[in-house]
Amino acid sequence: MENERKVIILGSGCAGLTAAIYAARANLAPLVIDGHEPGGQLTLTTMVENFPGFPEGILGPELMENMRKQAQRFGAEFVSGAVTSVDLGKRPFTVAVGKDSYACHALIIAAGASARLLGLESERKLIGHGVSTCATCDGYFFRGKEVVVVGGGDSAMEEGIFLTKFATHVTIVHRREEFRASKIMLDRARRNEKIRFLTPFTVLDVLDAAKQAVEAVKIKNLKTGEVSTLAADGLFVAIGHEPNTAIFRGQLDMNDAGYLITRKGTQTSVEGVFAAGDVQDRVYRQAVTAAGSGCMAAIDAERYLEAQHR
Ligand code: NAP
Repeated sequence: MENERKVIILGSGCAGLTAAIYAARANLAPLVIDGHEPGGQLTLTTMVENFPGFPEGILGPELMENMRKQAQRFGAEFVSGAVTSVDLGKRPFTVAVGKDSYACHALIIAAGASARLLGLESERKLIGHGVSTCATCDGYFFRGKEVVVVGGGDSAMEEGIFLTKFATHVTIVHRREEFRASKIMLDRARRNEKIRFLTPFTVLDVLDAAKQAVEAVKIKNLKTGEVSTLAADGLFVAIGHEPNTAIFRGQLDMNDAGYLITRKGTQTSVEGVFAAGDVQDRVYRQAVTAAGSGCMAAIDAERYLEAQHR
């Protein structure tokens, strides 16, 4: 088969590209299938200041472009598009991208997770310009500013508490009176003097997309129906993540939230299939941890192929 490879990597975020660098340097000539968000979640941020090696920080898209070039320099090849189906039930494994089909003896899944968004046009336009889905990544830019966090789970509490290190005030806006967050996190947020809660409120709009900056958030009181504007310099959307694992359902073990389960390093429930990055990590979700597990997956794949005499 013309499109048969030793290794195929699904996803081109930090995990996928690091796996590609290691696999390429191991002479495995990996094929990387970009996925629906080439470069992954870091392409949605501006300055990345916590990736080791960049004392002045680096722009997320630039970091990803560098990783891609690094992988290409060692012979990794890229295919654009997202995987539409996989067959892990027979060997070699097959992967379809639309009408194109590829086969491989080892597969590294680094398809990531996508932060859930509210679905507002203004929110999409202002991502990286005051709207963020990651306080650890972007909180630092809100020193002395007013920020709004939307969500009522542990992520919203965690992001809100973290943001009080920088922001003057944090307003947590949640659509219900009850919270999904654990009691301990909720209590911690409630005890924090810089945090106030607005419930049951929903976010209708983020202002002002035309100015490429967040100036206010338009909110609606779901009890009274009243619409008001809340001045804010930033909006953190913390309403959960979705691992990009739908196409593996029924073929690979996953937990209740849909994250792939790995054991013995990066091995999934199918021998020869490895997983790295946010697709299997609901806890750390950092660029550097994703890169680290991408490296592990490439090493695990290389050892697996060697044992198979491939
Ligand atoms: P989550 O528990 O699913 O909570 C998501 C929150 O966002 C819910 O309050 C939900 O509201 C709200 N939401 C969802 N869609 C919305 C929409 N379209 N508009 C407005 N609000 C919306 O997600 P999570 O907070 O990311 O937590 C995920 C898992 O990770 C949980 O198991 C959590 O315990 C864990 N986690 C743990 C920690 C920690 O312990 N330090 C930190 C972070 C996450 P409703 O409640 O009304 O549905």
